[in-house]
Amino acid sequence: MAIVVDLELCKGCGVCLKECPNKAISLEEKKARLADSCTSCGICVRVCPFKAMHKNLDLKTGAVKCTSCPVQCEVLNGFIGACQRYRNDGGKLVRNRRLVTDKSEGGPLITAVGAGTSYPCCRPAPHIVQDTIDDVEVITVVTEAPLSYSGVKVKIDTNLFIGNEGAKVRRNGKIIGMVDTEEYGSKMLTIGGANLLTGKDGFIVARTVVEIANGERVTVKVDDGSELELEVGARPIINGIIDTKMRVGCGSATIGMFASVLKEAVDEAIILDHHVVGLLSEHLAGEFVGMSWSGVTPKARRSTRGRYFGEPGPGWGGTDIENPRDAIQSVDMLIAKAGMKILVTETTGQKAALFEVEKDGGVIEIPLTKRVRQSVNTIVANCEEARVSAVYTGGTGGSARAGVAVNPLQVTQAVHCGEAKLTIGGAETFVLPGGGINFMVDVEKVVPKAFTWVPTPATVAPVEYTMTLEKYKEIGGHMDYIRMREDIKNS
Ligand code: SF4
Ligand code: SF4
Repeated sequence: MAIVVDLELCKGCGVCLKECPNKAISLEEKKARLADSCTSCGICVRVCPFKAMHKNLDLKTGAVKCTSCPVQCEVLNGFIGACQRYRNDGGKLVRNRRLVTDKSEGGPLITAVGAGTSYPCCRPAPHIVQDTIDDVEVITVVTEAPLSYSGVKVKIDTNLFIGNEGAKVRRNGKIIGMVDTEEYGSKMLTIGGANLLTGKDGFIVARTVVEIANGERVTVKVDDGSELELEVGARPIINGIIDTKMRVGCGSATIGMFASVLKEAVDEAIILDHHVVGLLSEHLAGEFVGMSWSGVTPKARRSTRGRYFGEPGPGWGGTDIENPRDAIQSVDMLIAKAGMKILVTETTGQKAALFEVEKDGGVIEIPLTKRVRQSVNTIVANCEEARVSAVYTGGTGGSARAGVAVNPLQVTQAVHCGEAKLTIGGAETFVLPGGGINFMVDVEKVVPKAFTWVPTPATVAPVEYTMTLEKYKEIGGHMDYIRMREDIKNS
């Protein structure tokens, strides 16, 4: 089916240019024009706001139709499909990445990266290989599976405010995910998922999931929150600030770890944190090091002794306190004494201020003393580096199992009972309990640039199942399609 531009309807808005994966569209005199790299993938038809692009019924002259996903690209000689995986090489479609056969210790016999797919799932997987490991006959079955149930969970080790839980995350104004609940010292995003992938902006969702999983830098914006520049393995950039430290613990934990150090330096310490703000003298750890309540009350909601809930915001410790003076709500002069020193700092120790109590219960900021600086540096020295990490999440409990064996349910059962090992691009997975095969994998352990996407839209993951030959036979494996690993490596 060739793509046709209705020049009457085309307004030259350029929306299709940005979305075309093959950069096949240009604007000439404010009208869309298609190049030979167009594969009739249909993205432009689906995104054009003026319905100016449509498919006709003719096979594109000279093109080869790909059947490796439902998109059915028509690819001319020398060009590649919309997913960038298949190339028309002299009239034959070939996978344009070599199969990655390097084996990690204890991993699959080969990876699925570069393997191609078993879609439409009524044929065996592209590679079913056998080898002998420690005198046991082992099978690995590999396929690059399009997964509409897929996404990435992005972990940002930072104390900086990114936005409220549940807030939408956008890229180029389109919703691609949301802010999840925090995980200890980290902010979490969920990007992708079946509903967004099948929604009206599914193409940018798929592209974002794959770019993050492949370690590319992506800029997103949280509604009523921050702009985030994210690259797996690198420091997060939040509203243009490169964050460097992950908090050592919440404010209460920081008091617990450093109570004796802080006591030597000040009469009181308020450790600001978006979760729990700690107050040294009132905290049980303060009592353990011989302190009693100083009369200072921090500006936060009291939880239990020495522990207060902070309000999230763009201020110190990820709270809404932007001026450290505001962290001190009151000083009870029936208990406190003039000249007392109060340290206000964060759970990363990156910002710190010292205050002295005046006779009337007011406070004035004074320079940090050497001892106070040393105590804060002790907190800093115990913080890990701020970084971005991600796990790819997917569900491969559906039709792709048919490429593995004729009894799909037995594939699932073998994975769940540990008789078949599921890996993604050579990396170990965590398989979620319950039905189906829902997995998570650390993208940094996967073969580099292993993820792709197809414009159904869905992301494509390299999936490997490894088990004994005996088990493979038992679950109805495609025995006639087994090849020796050595033969595949040499082919
Ligand atoms: S059909 Fe696909 S490849 Fe062709 S111009 Fe449209 S978006 Fe680009
Ligand atoms: S997008 Fe689908 S049809 Fe197009 S080349 Fe890739 S696998 Fe083939």
